[in-house]
Amino acid sequence: MEDVSARLEAVRTRIREACAACGRRPEDVELIAVSKTFPADAIREIHQAGQTVFGESRQQEAAPKIAMLPGGLKWHFIGSVQRNKVRKLLPLFDVIHAVDSLRLAAHIDEVAAELGLFPRVFLQVNLSGEETKGGYAPEMLERDLPALLALRRMEILGLMTIPPEGPDAESARPWFAALRRLRDRLQSVYQAGLPGLSMGMSGDFEVAISEGATHVRVGSAIFGKRAYRVEGELG
Ligand SMILES: *Cc1c(COP(=O)(O)O)cnc(C)c1O
Repeated sequence: MEDVSARLEAVRTRIREACAACGRRPEDVELIAVSKTFPADAIREIHQAGQTVFGESRQQEAAPKIAMLPGGLKWHFIGSVQRNKVRKLLPLFDVIHAVDSLRLAAHIDEVAAELGLFPRVFLQVNLSGEETKGGYAPEMLERDLPALLALRRMEILGLMTIPPEGPDAESARPWFAALRRLRDRLQSVYQAGLPGLSMGMSGDFEVAISEGATHVRVGSAIFGKRAYRVEGELG
């Protein structure tokens, strides 16, 4: 368990150094500790070391863990969102990272109205066109953006992406840069406020920070290697 706190501290140090290297402020980069597959005890340990923001990718796994842990924790849902889970997800999660269709967004907005909630979301973009990944094709996102921005309850924080697997961290850079350019263009064309860029995982978060990431989703560098893949995982 001591390991886990030491690894958290090492990740925080690397975030500070990555920010220093590109002239950004560390407080402008939110670390989401991705706790999927790890038990509530491991999360409690990290929370005691000062981490309050956690990421999960399956509602069935997350719900009992969230119930066991202190109410002050913030939960981000980073998995693919099934329509029939939205009603359960919204009360549990502060932010949803992988909204990738107008149909899903409209459904979230409708359920949020019924529940009296104001969900905050990222729009996931599939820049590489890999069929195994969710996410908006950039041109579809552009087509839907005006309607997405008009939804009354949902606040769009920005864009999220998962680059294709590559040989090293640098191979993710073009994808991170492309997400930032897409964001910049959409902001200026549609007068949209899209301040957030959710990008960067254990293997490449420093590169993501240098390309403008505001939210990095870091699991294994903090919690250690996961023993199994999670259904609904986006990678
Ligand atoms: C699992 C997961 C992560 C964390 O991955 P690590 O490589 O363990 O840091 C980040 N984002 C998403 C969408 C994930 O599913």
